[in-house]
Amino acid sequence: MRHPELAAWLQEHRESLIALCEQGEAVDVTLIYNILATARTGRVDQLDSTIGQAAYRAVGQEIPLDRLLRKPQRIKEVIWEELKRDELPPPQTLALIEAAEPIFSRISQVAMRSYFEASQQMQDVLASEIARLHGESERRVMDRTADLARANIELSKLEKARTDFISIAAHELKTPLTLIQGYTNMLHEMGLEGDGVAGSDHIVEGILQGTERLSAIVEDMLDVSVIDTNALSLRIEEVPLSHAVSLVVGQNAHTIGERQLIVHVGDVDSLPSIQFDARRLHQILTHLLNNAIKYTPDGGEVFVEGRVVSGDHAETGGGQFVELIIRDTGIGIAPEDRERIFEKFYRVGKSTLHSSGQVKFMGAGPGLGLPIARGLAEAHGGRLWAESPGHDEINCPGSTFHLVLPVRAIPKPGITVTWVESPARGEDQGGAS
Ligand code: ADP
Repeated sequence: MRHPELAAWLQEHRESLIALCEQGEAVDVTLIYNILATARTGRVDQLDSTIGQAAYRAVGQEIPLDRLLRKPQRIKEVIWEELKRDELPPPQTLALIEAAEPIFSRISQVAMRSYFEASQQMQDVLASEIARLHGESERRVMDRTADLARANIELSKLEKARTDFISIAAHELKTPLTLIQGYTNMLHEMGLEGDGVAGSDHIVEGILQGTERLSAIVEDMLDVSVIDTNALSLRIEEVPLSHAVSLVVGQNAHTIGERQLIVHVGDVDSLPSIQFDARRLHQILTHLLNNAIKYTPDGGEVFVEGRVVSGDHAETGGGQFVELIIRDTGIGIAPEDRERIFEKFYRVGKSTLHSSGQVKFMGAGPGLGLPIARGLAEAHGGRLWAESPGHDEINCPGSTFHLVLPVRAIPKPGITVTWVESPARGEDQGGAS
């Protein structure tokens, strides 16, 4: 009987067999177990196909048997030869199995351990690779963020330099301009009293007009700089909108007549009073009406309408608002300019084509009117935007400006507000801030 010898052999080569399998792969263990399983049933003739099936299951694909069995070749050879030669009856097979079992269970443990170690290693490699990629992308994002932050700082420096320049230039111009205006007024009065130089009246008149225009531009520059730096100071009171509208229309009556324009004012009398800085409201309406006049050819029409906008109106986001709509039959605004015209110093077309006339057709100014108007509206919690089918100086599609103002002012945080008491004001409005 060879099986006791086989058992002895297995016993003897226990360690080297284990070592052999330690170098091998998990699939080897599966194969050996299958050899033993076949031995258990005594179906030696099926051994080859059993090995093949096990190999297939283990690796999921058909590969040559000898490649799979290279490592535990020795084990296979021994078991194979012995089983075939002796055709062991079941009890003897059992003895063989009993002798081999401890070795194979140990082999199994080793193989399982190395399998887990390998997968653990693989997981570690993957985890460290993921961590490396994550770290790298995080570093790139941080680098990019730092670049953007630097660019932002540069931009804010440039913007601040621009605002500082406007403010300094306006202040520097204001003092000599006031002097010129003072002396010109004196000359004008001397002329009225007969003490002036003969024939100088129209010259003095011209200087006065020029200095007034220059003074308005300097005032606009100062306004733009206080809006930009959030240094506005508002004096908020109850202002009847209808009064504010008719005042501005009335002040432009002469130009409107001269330019043969028709200005239709809708039912603004029914509009409620709003909490606003009256001087600033006048400024906004003047800019909007002046523009409607300036950019509408002679004989055109301007419409001023108003309505109360309910709190749930999508544009307003809550509270009660009044919307003033200033529509003209003028040259219109191209889609790409609809927002840009609210940027300071932005003017459509070539700046050299513009004259400095305040209400002359297309006699644009320095491009500060709309940024000031929007800045002042927003300072009170309002909004201003433009709509137009496009720009066409021949067919004149017209423009519409929407000015939405809160009935109860919502001053922008940070600006100085003085609340002027009025009987119409509710108790819940708080004092000066
Ligand atoms: P400006 O002093 O040049 O009028 P604004 O800021 O008031 O400056 O306007 C900026 C530009 O917006 C104008 O130069 C003009 O091109 C355009 N614009 C303003 N209002 C109208 C309007 N009602 N119709 C057509 N274009 C307009």
